[in-house]
Amino acid sequence: MRDRPVEPVVPEQGLAYAMDATGHADLKFAIRTWEAVANRYAEGGVRLGKPVSLVIEPMPIMGATESTKDGHRLHVADHAVRSRMLDGLIAHEIGHMALAEQGHPSHRADVHRRLVAAVDLASRPRAFGGVVRGAMNHVQDVYADDLAIEVIGDDRASRFFSDWIRSSATEGPSRWATLGNLVSVAFALGNLARRGIPPEDGMAVRAQGFAAAVGLDGLLPRLVEGFRDLPKTDETEAVERAMARLLTDLTTVEARGSGPERHP
Ligand SMILES: [Zn+2]
Repeated sequence: MRDRPVEPVVPEQGLAYAMDATGHADLKFAIRTWEAVANRYAEGGVRLGKPVSLVIEPMPIMGATESTKDGHRLHVADHAVRSRMLDGLIAHEIGHMALAEQGHPSHRADVHRRLVAAVDLASRPRAFGGVVRGAMNHVQDVYADDLAIEVIGDDRASRFFSDWIRSSATEGPSRWATLGNLVSVAFALGNLARRGIPPEDGMAVRAQGFAAAVGLDGLLPRLVEGFRDLPKTDETEAVERAMARLLTDLTTVEARGSGPERHP
């Protein structure tokens, strides 16, 4: 793709607003990268209908999108602007925005409310709610990457998600944090498997070793499958059913964790 001339920027792919809240980031580079990625989406027939504002700010994660009925706000970390992954991040975030505008079930608040009600979060430990929300966010990430990888390719995916496994396959400060880490590891493995991309050597074994060490080795493959096999459709029932299965798998751990047999 490198030999293709840069497309002229069409106004509807532009940003409504862009700001560098750090005072030292390369805002022009971020805007150019946005335009290049948005143009590639447009070539593939995906155009955002709502205005986007971009803000560069200090944050631990690479970036995040907030979508409302009025538009999208894209938060980009200053370290992400300096990284070589900025185009990948923007492609991923535009994927979220497009899915939110299309009303894809993975990105719909009413679907999330039903799923949360179905696993009866209100009666479970608060920290477990965080794990459930993390899992739902990763479902959204898988669908966003379905769009993003069409646009930017998958040549960096193995390395990126192997690093993800390296940093997540570790016991957290609490049982819930550890379960959250396991969900992250499963997402990384499942997201790669969905695209037929192997992780780097040793990563699958490392992930399984971590799961075994924390007593969750039965759960890991189920979660990996859950992320890998999310139905490629915008049909509500199918997507909701697949998400419900993932969350139900998590509740089996919660039930075990709260029982007396947990501490023999
Ligand atoms: Zn995401």
